[in-house]
Amino acid sequence: AKAIEELGQRALALAKEGPLSSSVKLFTELPISEKTLKGLARSHYAEMTEIQHKALPYVLAKRDVLGAAKTGSGKTLAFLIPVLEVLYRSQWTSFDGLGALIISPTRELAIQIFEELRKVGRYHQLSAGLVIGGKRVEEEKEILTKMNILVCTPGRLLQHMDETVGFDCCTLQVLVLDEADRILDMGFKKSMNAIIANLPRQRQTLLFSATQTKSVKDLARLSLERPEYVGVHEAD
Ligand code: ADP
Ligand code: MG
Repeated sequence: AKAIEELGQRALALAKEGPLSSSVKLFTELPISEKTLKGLARSHYAEMTEIQHKALPYVLAKRDVLGAAKTGSGKTLAFLIPVLEVLYRSQWTSFDGLGALIISPTRELAIQIFEELRKVGRYHQLSAGLVIGGKRVEEEKEILTKMNILVCTPGRLLQHMDETVGFDCCTLQVLVLDEADRILDMGFKKSMNAIIANLPRQRQTLLFSATQTKSVKDLARLSLERPEYVGVHEAD
């Protein structure tokens, strides 16, 4: 318990210092649990990408972050690592209910996130489920009421918020909106507003997007509180 508390304190101290020094390159140099570090190493991740380097000090300190970087820059780990760490530091167990919600525009992307979560989160005792539609409505209802981390598409999530008895988001700690620009391009603006209205206001929110459009800024204003902006600009 003391080691866990220390991780939290080191994370807060790191965020206070501002951007990481460029000499800090490895995940092992960050205040991250042994369980996550083992999952990263087993997946052959050692050095942070630029967006991870910029975002991790803040996301680990439970700050809200708006992150922008093009496709392929490594945004997934920039939100999966804090999801695992925040729940680990809260000593979240399978009895504690929903701790993190990750919203992705498409089923395919949600599946990719879920697979990455299973890899890097393999040494944690957290449960995770996919809620992306398809034929398994009843099976999904089971998942919703049992899992600590859910990876969802917006339409399906909202449907369950309306219909599934026992699905309660009141314990939510971390909300992730991945590919926010695509979510909005696909016409999910109203669904997103309705989803956010159903969530507890006291939470950490991470919003990642490849582009910063006006509608992304509107969604950011609605969902984030005093966010840290982190962006990686294309070198040309
Ligand atoms: P984005 O969401 O920004 O499009 P992803 O998170 O999908 O990017 O990552 C793109 C690719 O980079 C994936 O194949 C992923 O495994 C790899 N990757 C991510 N972070 C690292 C890292 N720190 N070291 C090596 N490869 C990485
Ligand atoms: Mg991505």
